[in-house]
Amino acid sequence: MTNIGLTGGIGSGKSTVAKLFQKRGAHIMDLDLIAHHVEEPGGDAWKGIVAHFGKEVLTPEGKVNREILGEIVFKNRAKLEELNLIVHPAVNTEWKRRINDVLQRDGHAIIISDIPLLIEAGIYKRMDLVILVYVGTEVQIERVMKRNGYSRQEALDRLNSQMPLSDKIPFADFVINNEGTLKETEKAVEEVWGKILDHRRT
Ligand code: ATP
Repeated sequence: MTNIGLTGGIGSGKSTVAKLFQKRGAHIMDLDLIAHHVEEPGGDAWKGIVAHFGKEVLTPEGKVNREILGEIVFKNRAKLEELNLIVHPAVNTEWKRRINDVLQRDGHAIIISDIPLLIEAGIYKRMDLVILVYVGTEVQIERVMKRNGYSRQEALDRLNSQMPLSDKIPFADFVINNEGTLKETEKAVEEVWGKILDHRRT
């Protein structure tokens, strides 16, 4: 298998680029989706969250209320770390289970995991290759405003709480510039896909 980490920043185009790789035959693991899955009622992280933070962080239907939980951990670093200690191991276990499922079917699979905190959390060290989806700050602000309906300040607040994309470049084997049209991005993906296939052959 080839184990690839795909990262970027908020709204830089990770999901968009992941889909383009999927079209070419990569298996995609979306760590945000896996986190949602383990936080579903009855899931491992759900159980841990309820035990630690209480039923106050649940909706009337028993789901994790991400807004309430977000409010609690956004203002309190210690609580954020406590939450991470619950969620990260559950995500890791489910991620590995899904990778094993794919490998049982295809031992040579190219697995691309979309991981927002790939660099910050040090997970990049475990990858065969790292791909960064890059856009300049202005494009990133515009896309986040458009997609999320945020004001410029709201978009800036989100961006400023993250590691700058330019600081992530040195960690990447491949940088895909997603500032242009989707067609241009697809061309860049095609090129990188060729290099991934070369890497697999070596
Ligand atoms: P997040 O991690 O914040 O969910 P992301 O990095 O996965 O975001 P996407 O959801 O792929 O980013 O893209 C962000 C927004 O920008 C989406 O609305 C998407 O349609 C748009 N977008 C992505 N790439 C392009 C492009 N090349 N041209 C125009 N719009 C784009």
